[in-house]
Amino acid sequence: RAKAQPAASPEAGAGPVHADGEPMVRTEQVWKWFGSTDVLRGVDLAVHPRQTLVLLGPSGSGKSTLLRCINALERPDSGLLEVDGQRVGLRSGGGRLYQLTEGELCRQRARIGMVFQRFNLFPHMTALENVTLGPRRVLGLSREQAEAEAERLLTRVGLRDKLDSYPAQLSGGQQQRVAIARALAMKPHVMLFDEPTSALDPELVGEVLDVMKDLARQGMTMIVATHEIGFAKEVADTVAMLDGGVIIESGPPGECLVAPKEERTRAFLSKVL
Ligand code: ADP
Ligand code: MG
Repeated sequence: RAKAQPAASPEAGAGPVHADGEPMVRTEQVWKWFGSTDVLRGVDLAVHPRQTLVLLGPSGSGKSTLLRCINALERPDSGLLEVDGQRVGLRSGGGRLYQLTEGELCRQRARIGMVFQRFNLFPHMTALENVTLGPRRVLGLSREQAEAEAERLLTRVGLRDKLDSYPAQLSGGQQQRVAIARALAMKPHVMLFDEPTSALDPELVGEVLDVMKDLARQGMTMIVATHEIGFAKEVADTVAMLDGGVIIESGPPGECLVAPKEERTRAFLSKVL
């Protein structure tokens, strides 16, 4: 490896550092099928540190499956997946590759923050408890350390006054912001967002997008599956259009969204705009 550089994001924790110029997330010819259905058909992606990739594509095109593969929630049937220079779900030893154990997988996943369409907060825990759980269990932080960090993160997402609220007492937008704080508490090197605003009432979408814009500005590496074209225009470094399990077009938003080359991209954009 060439000379290493410090972790890319202000939220990034200790861990392996990637060599200069290496992508934070790399996929090469990733294939995934369920039964006889090819869901991903050779996906190639590279997302560099501090960059935001917006993943567009119609429902069923494979966006969630791709994100779940990057986070090792699904195992691809073939191809290469790397996050921060490490093979996802695998480790090498003695010239061979081995599947990670559950514990190793858990630690690897901790570096890959994921925010889902449904917020998936623990209903019986307060906002603060939802955010401290992972750092205490997985990172081994003391209660005091975890709470101090959770308070800082909940403040950052605008929820300073909701630390002791239960999910049922929070709006969808507030719950999603707790979910973002919870992911950040694990000091991820990359954040994956799977349609984070599509379950929200329209008036709550902006507050969640604002938090995500702020994160991008601060240098978090992000992959965001969304239909929010305005967000893509403003925040994305790269837009990738997934259709039928392949990336049919990708490039800067000023090209891909303004003058798409592919007819299918044009058709998709005309539906979501
Ligand atoms: P998107 O997020 O773009 O809507 P998905 O990745 O959710 O797309 O789904 C892509 C395709 O894979 C769909 O046809 C879906 O039905 C199928 N699929 C996703 N997960 C599974 C699964 N666990 N078992 C079988 N088929 C699945
Ligand atoms: Mg999906």
